Amino acid sequence: MGFEEARRRLVEYLRAAGFLRSERVARALLRVPRELFVPPEYRSLAYEDRPLPIGYGQTVSAPSVVARMTELLDPRPGERVLEVGTGSGYQAAVLAELVAPSDWPPEGWGHVWSIERIPGLAERARRNLEAAGYAGRVTVVVGDGSRGYPPAAPYDAIIVTAAAPQVPPPLVEQLKPGGRLVAPVGDRWAQRLVVLRKGPGGRVEVEEDIEVLFVPLVGEYGWEA
Ligand code: SAM
Repeated sequence: MGFEEARRRLVEYLRAAGFLRSERVARALLRVPRELFVPPEYRSLAYEDRPLPIGYGQTVSAPSVVARMTELLDPRPGERVLEVGTGSGYQAAVLAELVAPSDWPPEGWGHVWSIERIPGLAERARRNLEAAGYAGRVTVVVGDGSRGYPPAAPYDAIIVTAAAPQVPPPLVEQLKPGGRLVAPVGDRWAQRLVVLRKGPGGRVEVEEDIEVLFVPLVGEYGWEA
């Protein structure tokens, strides 16, 4: 079976299992070649619903978790999005498909900023994104994303893809009124997805979603290395 067919079957599975409800997110997952974001030795597993090692002790999340978090974040065309924890670049590419869809004119495109603390991973993610055609829609930067990324703030949406002990306060500050934030929050061994919405007056509402297991967010507002 080719990668395209494997991708189509994975999306069917995610729909049937209830992880995927939105047509827009399904279309984004169908467009992003996950095989280009995993190390060559794991390519044959790219369309299994499981996390995969990407080096430096880190992982790319399972497609079901990417689907759920993306649906909760609900990025719209034209929006500015920050991802904390670039890893392989796969989630950033899925976000790019939603804020800057391939079949839209570039004038209407939004943009994704993605911040990674490990320089070697950030470099690899840049190469993956370029190979998959997302270089102009995603900017990868190196730094402690628990402090956010002030140069491109404020954001319409922020996604954290590493486990945090709390929602980092700088991320809430860097969210526009009306913005959304999705993050796994808990201890090092179990977390729950948290969805935070900032109202037009700046009031914050928080809801909890499914249980997840992420590698730790390491930084000033995360865990110690
Ligand atoms: N979203 C990624 C993908 O699509 O491949 C997977 C992210 S992986 C589960 C978590 C990533 O967060 C790791 O690459 C890790 O190095 C990074 N990370 C941990 N703490 C961080 C921090 N304070 N700032 C930026 N990146 C961080």
